[in-house]
This record gives sequence, structure tokens and C-alpha cells, in this order.
Amino acid sequence: MPDASHSLPHHLDVVIVGAGLAGLYAIHRLRKLGLKVRAYEAGSGIGGTWFWNRYPGARCDVESLEYSYSFDDALQQEWKWPERYGTQPEILKYINHVADRFDLRRDVQLNTRIKSAVFDTKANEWTVKTDTGEEIRARYCVMAAGNLSTPRVPDFKGLQGFKGKWYHSGLWPHEGVDFSGLRVGVIGTGSSGVQMIPLIAEQARHLTVFQRTANFSLPARNTPMPEDKERTHKAEYPARREAAKETPFAIAGYPKPARSALEVAEAERNAAYEAKWQEGGSISYLYAYTDLLVNKASNDTASEFVRNKIRGIVTDQKTAELLAPKDHPIGTKRLCLDTNYYETYNRPNVSLVDVRSDPIDTVTETGLKLKSGAAFELDAIVFATGFDAMTGALNEIDVRTTDGEVLREHWAGGPLTYLGLMVAGLPNMFIVTGPGSPGVKTQMIASIEQHVDWIADAIDYLGQHQLDRIEPSPQAESAWVDHVNKVADSTLYPLANSWYMGANIPGKPRVFMPYVGGFDRYKKQCDAVAAKGYEGFTLSRHETVAA
Ligand SMILES: Cc1cc2nc3c(=O)[nH]c(=O)nc-3n(C[C@H](O)[C@H](O)[C@H](O)COP(=O)(O)OP(=O)(O)OC[C@H]3O[C@@H](n4cnc5c(N)ncnc54)[C@H](O)[C@@H]3O)c2cc1C
Repeated sequence: MPDASHSLPHHLDVVIVGAGLAGLYAIHRLRKLGLKVRAYEAGSGIGGTWFWNRYPGARCDVESLEYSYSFDDALQQEWKWPERYGTQPEILKYINHVADRFDLRRDVQLNTRIKSAVFDTKANEWTVKTDTGEEIRARYCVMAAGNLSTPRVPDFKGLQGFKGKWYHSGLWPHEGVDFSGLRVGVIGTGSSGVQMIPLIAEQARHLTVFQRTANFSLPARNTPMPEDKERTHKAEYPARREAAKETPFAIAGYPKPARSALEVAEAERNAAYEAKWQEGGSISYLYAYTDLLVNKASNDTASEFVRNKIRGIVTDQKTAELLAPKDHPIGTKRLCLDTNYYETYNRPNVSLVDVRSDPIDTVTETGLKLKSGAAFELDAIVFATGFDAMTGALNEIDVRTTDGEVLREHWAGGPLTYLGLMVAGLPNMFIVTGPGSPGVKTQMIASIEQHVDWIADAIDYLGQHQLDRIEPSPQAESAWVDHVNKVADSTLYPLANSWYMGANIPGKPRVFMPYVGGFDRYKKQCDAVAAKGYEGFTLSRHETVAA
């Protein structure tokens, strides 16, 4: 049921869709401008990703001293992260703490899914409708609906007839799942699969992992938070946060590489990779040399080092070869971080099945059957099959204008945005970390803060100049899309069939969606656009028609 504890403001200045890290920060930042705002959230709690993804082993893979809000120094000083990488419960606790500390809950309405958003070009306002029949009107709409918030359950024949239980990593039951004594099948070996497999293996009678694509994973080397590290980091926090803005991934503290991987002898190179492997974390590894993400020959050295590690850890060499990725350069798909992932395949109760060569055909009443007829008896199936990434949440909402511009149609051939922030033909609608933004290729909270700050500044600018409408020109939008593609094509990213490309969703246009030019370059571009009076956008004053 909707949270009816507050009177419902049907007229707002800004309606926000989603109450994850982005929606919550948008409430805080926009309220400071004196605006009347409210976020509508489909879930029964705040936190977005960290509310929904409660599977065993769920945690962030950016260190928590980095993966946290920077907008308030007292907040970052007082919060204590118990481990190097925060667990899902810990991050959710942090988000709830932030909501209380900044009194955000009074502007969040839970259990409410936004179904449509229509911009009335005459009245110059958005009308947003909920699944509970409410109608909200607002001058501006901020889409903070998430990039990885639309779970994808594959459309397997027979799933509804399965007599056991099945789960999706992104819709995990709040009470948890006890796999003790069960025969469990995990489908999918991306970030979520890699995190949960070692823990499910410890409980299950037998765990069968169904792998379509092997992904590279590096050891996280998680530890309890060392006190001295926390002390030093906190003392340097403001400077570190500023330094992060000058980096491609929005994470400071990694020395900028100076040389190509091909400029050093093999033994020296492998020693460097070994040091990074021991240190743990993905940024450090990809930062070993200047050109790992742009030069295939350089990348091959880093990829082969990890493949050899897998061959060294996994005792059965047939399994090791299946686990060693060969169809994409390391780092071009989301690089996983794990604790004992490859070691798990040495357990007697774990087996790996290659569903690339022999795809899953049917879910039977008692398990799974492959195309070859091979059958597996299972008591539980876990889908770690990911999300309809980057465009899924927005395409589920019927976004349009009264002039007939329809977002789904505008994006039919792949998403088009200017700076990842706005769409031509859809005035006054902002997107947080949407397609065309570097969001998913960065420490996301840094991107969220940067986007929301930019949006708030734009709305403020309009107010200061007695303007009330902003939209990108079609030319600026298409120039940005060309730029995003050109930058992607100068890297190795397009070589992978990844969710960055929409490749995990049948029928989705294959377009490279994130901006991979780096957070630093992107932020400078956004700042320059604003400094030039919002270059590429049309700003206007609309004579609002009295209702
Ligand atoms: C398992 C996992 C691990 C991750 N680890 C990292 C990490 O280590 N580092 C990192 O930088 N990023 C990580 N991410 C990315 C993560 O999504 C972001 O860091 C961040 O949490 C995104 O916040 P958000 O508010 O933009 O979106 P979300 O957290 O996805 O929140 C969006 C919210 O909008 C709601 N919503 C969507 N559509 C509607 C609608 N129509 N009506 C109402 N509500 C709606 C959803 O229910 C959701 O609660 C991870 C993601 C996943 C899934």
C-alpha cells in the first residue's frame, strides 16, 4: 500500500522517479533550492539496488570509503565502514542513515510505481501517473529510476511448471533463502553470480553452475577495515574527493600509469600484474598500464595473466578452460571481484555446465534440460541473469509529450541523449546516469552527485533568468551520440557482447550505451556547456496557460 502518512502534494516543482542513491540525493539537493519535490519508489523501502539485491555475497566492488556520498563532510567523517567493501546490508543501513540524517523520508512515497509521464507542451508541465491511480503534476521530472533496476528473468519454456523454488538475484526475498541440503542451479556468471556462487556452494548439497559466458574475475581481497587506513583516508577525504573528479573512473588513489604494457619485458609485466592481483580490486589492475583498454595486444597480456591464474587455481583443467574467458578482452565487460570464486570449482559438490555449446532448452518440473537432452535434477534455481540495463526502467514508463513525441519510439534504434542528461523533444525531463553518461563506468555515487548537481544548477539557472523550459536541440543530441560512439570505437569495449551493448537482451538494439571517455572529461564538458549558458540546449520562457 502507498505510504499515506503524509498529505499528498499533487502539484510539485520536481517529481522524482526512484528512491535509490540518486533519487535521495536529488531530494536533498533540490530541496535546498526551495523547491517542492517528492520521489516515488516502486519498492517498499528506499535504497534501490541495495534494497533489491539481497542475494548471498552481495556487496559493492568499489571500496566503501570511496563508494559513499561526498556531499557532506560530517557524514563521511562519522560513518564507519566495517569492511574494505561494504556488504549489501551495510550499504542499505548507510542509505537509511542518510535518509534519517537529512530528513529525506517525508518526501518519499514508497510502494508506488510510475506508469506514465506525459509532458503537456501547452501547460508546460509533466503529468505523472502511478499504478495506484494518483496523478502528480510538476514542472520538472527527474528520472532516477536506475540502470540496473529492471531484473531480467529469461523466458525459459516450462518455468511456471517448476516444482522447486526459483529466485532472481535482483528480487531476492527479504527473509533470505536457506539452501542447506538442496540441489541448486545457478544460471549466470556475471558480477552477481560470481559473488553468490562461493556462498551457495557452502550450503547446498550440490551446486550446478550453468555458464553461457565466462567472465574475468579478480580477487577482491576484502578485509575488516584497517583503522589506520580509515584514519588516513578520512583525514584526506576532501582532497581525495576532489582528486577523484580528475580521474576516468571517479576514484582517486591509484597512481596514473605511465607506460604501455608493450614497453616492458614480459617478466616485469607479469610481476606488475601479480602485485595488482595480490592487492585486489579492479581499478588497480586495469590501471597497470596506459593502454589496457585501447590496445588489443596490450590487453592480451593482462587477459592471459588472469587466464593463467584460473588454470593455476582450478584443478580440473577442463573446468579451468571453460572458466577462462576467451571471447572478450579483460575489462570490456564489467570486471567481477570475488572471494574464492575459482577455488569453489575445486569443491566436490560443485559442477560447471557449459550452456554456450549446449543451451538450456526447458525448465522441467524437477530441473533443467539442455538442447542435447542432458537433464539436471534441481530443488532450486537461481537466476543471476542481470538486468535490462540502462534503458529498461525508462522504457517501462510510457514517456511522451502531448505533441506526440514518444521516448520508446525515439529510442527504438538505441538510446539518444545529450550528455546522457536529457532527450530532444522531451523538455524538462532529466535523467540521472542515463545512456550517454559515464555513470556505469565510474564509481556511481560520484556520477550521481555530479549529475544531480548539474541538474539542480540548470533548474536554478532557469529560475534566476525567469525561464521555465529546457530541452536539448536535436543537433546537440546527435553530435553527442556520435561522440559517444566515436570514443567507444577508439577503445576495446565494443569487442565484447556486454550489457553495455544491450547484448544480454534478445532483440535489444546493439548500441554502445555508456560514455567511456572518462568521468574527468565528461565533467569538464558538462561544466563547459553550463558556463556557455547551456550550449546545445534551448532555454525558453513559457507563458503557462492557466488551468
Ligand atoms: C548487485 C549490484 C552491485 C553493484 N555494485 C556497484 C559498485 O560496487 N560500485 C558502483 O559504483 N556501482 C555498483 N552498482 C551500480 C548501482 O546500481 C549504483 O551504484 C547505484 O546504486 C544506483 O543508484 P540509483 O539510485 O541510480 O539507481 P537504483 O539504485 O537502481 O534505484 C532506482 C530505483 O528506482 C525505482 N524505480 C525504477 N522504475 C520505477 C518506476 N517506474 N516507478 C517507481 N520507482 C521506480 C527502483 O525500484 C529503484 O529502487 C551495483 C549494482 C548492482 C545491481
